[in-house]
Amino acid sequence: NTSNTSNFIKHIVKEDLANGTHKEIITRFPPEPNGYLHIGHAKSIVLNFELAAEFNGKINLRFDDTNPLKEDQEYVDAIKEDISWLGYEWDNLHFASNYFEEMYSRAILLIKKRMAYVEDLSQEEIREYRGSLHEAGKESDSRSRSVEENLELFEKMKNGDFANGEKVLRAKIDMASPNINLRDPVIYRISHTEHHNTGNTWCIYPMYSFAHPLEDAIEGVTHSLCTLEFEDQRPLYDWVVEHSEIHATPRQYEFARLNLTNTVLSKRKLKQLVDENYVDGWDDPRMPTISGLRRRGFTAESIRTFAREIGVAKSDNLVDVRMLEHFLREDLKLKAPRTMAVLDPLKVVITNYPEGEVEWLDADNNPENEEMGTRKIPFSREIYIEKSDFMEDPPKKYFRLFPGNEVRLKHAYFIKCNEVIKDEDGNVVEIHCTYDPETKSGSGFTGRKVKGTLHFVEATQAKKAEYRLYHSLIEDEREGDSFLDFVNPDSLEITHGYVEANMDDAKPQDKFQFFRHGYFNVDSKHTTEDMLVFNRIVELKSSFKL
Ligand code: ATP
Ligand code: MG
Ligand code: MG
Repeated sequence: NTSNTSNFIKHIVKEDLANGTHKEIITRFPPEPNGYLHIGHAKSIVLNFELAAEFNGKINLRFDDTNPLKEDQEYVDAIKEDISWLGYEWDNLHFASNYFEEMYSRAILLIKKRMAYVEDLSQEEIREYRGSLHEAGKESDSRSRSVEENLELFEKMKNGDFANGEKVLRAKIDMASPNINLRDPVIYRISHTEHHNTGNTWCIYPMYSFAHPLEDAIEGVTHSLCTLEFEDQRPLYDWVVEHSEIHATPRQYEFARLNLTNTVLSKRKLKQLVDENYVDGWDDPRMPTISGLRRRGFTAESIRTFAREIGVAKSDNLVDVRMLEHFLREDLKLKAPRTMAVLDPLKVVITNYPEGEVEWLDADNNPENEEMGTRKIPFSREIYIEKSDFMEDPPKKYFRLFPGNEVRLKHAYFIKCNEVIKDEDGNVVEIHCTYDPETKSGSGFTGRKVKGTLHFVEATQAKKAEYRLYHSLIEDEREGDSFLDFVNPDSLEITHGYVEANMDDAKPQDKFQFFRHGYFNVDSKHTTEDMLVFNRIVELKSSFKL
C-alpha cells in the first residue's frame, strides 16, 4: 500500500499501538450474506484487510448472519470467492450464528442484572411509546417485570411458545435519552424461520445492534469499522459491550460510505434489479457488484487501487465512477495486448492486390511495452474496416475513407478509395480501393503523408466476434421517484464483427486493448467454441482528470 491518501483510522490505530492501548489489532469484515458484494464493500474490505496487514494484526471474515429471512449459502460462497479474487486472505472465518448460544446467555445475564425485560407491546406500540426527538418516551408496564418473570418469559420465547411479534426482549436503558437508540432498544425478536446455518434450532434471533458488539467482543476485535449511519448507535454499542461482561473493549469507528455517480450501491436495490430481470444476474457486467465488475473485465488491482485512492473520510461524498475506469486503464495500459477488432464491419476489396494471396505483416503487441513482442497479422485482397470509417459525402475535416481519399491501414499499407458499391436500396455494401505497395508499414516510406489511420481485419482469416458495449445502467440525470425510474433501458448495445485471426485461442477473462475502441474482456458466460464474445470494459479516452 503506497497510497498517501488520507485515512484517519490509520492514525488512530498507529496511536493505539504506540501508546499501548493494544499490542495487536484485530479488524473484521462483517458482510450479511443476503446479496453479492459491491464496489462499496470493496472500500471496506481494502480498509480492513490492509489495516491488519500494515500493522501486523489479524482480520476476521465474519458473516453477520443473524437474520434468517434473507440469508443464503449462495451468498456466503459468492462473498468468499469475491474477497479471494480481490486478493485478500482472512486469518479467521466466523459466522455470527455460531454465537447464538453465547448471545442468549448474555441476554440472560442482562435480565439478571435488571438490564433487560420481555415486552408485550407490539412493534407499532413500541414505536409510539418511544417518542420523538422533542418528547421523552413513555415507559411500558412490562418494564417493571420481575427478574423471575422475565427469565421465564424469555425461556418461553426461546422454546417457541409465542408467535412472531408476540414478545420481544428489550434492553432497559433510558426512555428519556436524547438518543432515541437508547430508549430501550429491542435486542431479541421471535422469528419462526429456518436459518441457513442453525436450521430450526432457534426461533429467537438477536437484533443487529445487540449482536454486532457481542460478535466484536467475542472475537477480540479492537477496531470495528462501520459506515456513518451507525454513528448514533455507538453509545448502544458501548453499552452492550460494557454490560455483557465479555471483558474486551472493541471500539466502533465510523467512516463515509462510498457513493458513486450513476450507480446504486445497496444490496436490496441490486437484488431487485436481478429479481425483476433488469439485468442478467448478479454478475451482469453492468452491475457494480464485484462479480459483475470482474465479468466486465475490471481487474482486482484496479479495484484495490481505486479503493485506496478514494481515501477514508468522516463525511459523505460522491465519487465519479470514471475514477474507477481511470485505474483500470492505468492497470491494463502496459499489460493488455493491443490488437485490432472491427465492431461494425464494411467490406473493402483491394482491387490491385493479387487474388488468392495472403501475406503476413509484423505488428507490435504493445508499443508502450516492448517486452510484449510482436505478432504476424494477415493482409489480402479483402479486408473489413469499420462502417463509421467510411463516408460517401464527408464533412470538412473528415480524414477517414471517402471516394478519392487515401488513408493508412494500421500495420499495413496506404489505401485509396475508388468505387462505392451499393445495394438496391442505396446502402453502401462494399468499397473498392487500391493499395500502394511502396507504403508498407515499417518500410520507411516518406513519399507522402495521409491524415487518417484506420484499423482493419483481414477477411479470409477473420474470426467472428460479438461485442457487448455498455452504457450506464443507472442515469443520475433522469427524473423519477423510485430508483427504477433511473434505469437506462439502453444500457446494453450488441454488435457483431471480426477480430484478428490470431485471437483464436483467446479464453474467458483475457483482456485486450482494441485499437481505437478501448479495453475489452472475453465474456465468461456467452463465449462459445464458435463465437468469442467481448465485453467492453471502458473506452480508451475520458475527459476525467484525477
Ligand atoms: P447494503 O446497504 O448494500 O446492503 P450493508 O452495509 O447492509 O450494505 P453489509 O453486508 O452489512 O451490507 O456490509 C458489510 C460491510 O461493508 C459493513 O461494514 C458496511 O459498513 C460496509 N459497506 C457496505 N456498503 C458500503 C459502502 N457503500 N461503502 C463503504 N462500506 C460499505
Ligand atoms: Mg448491514
Ligand atoms: Mg443492507
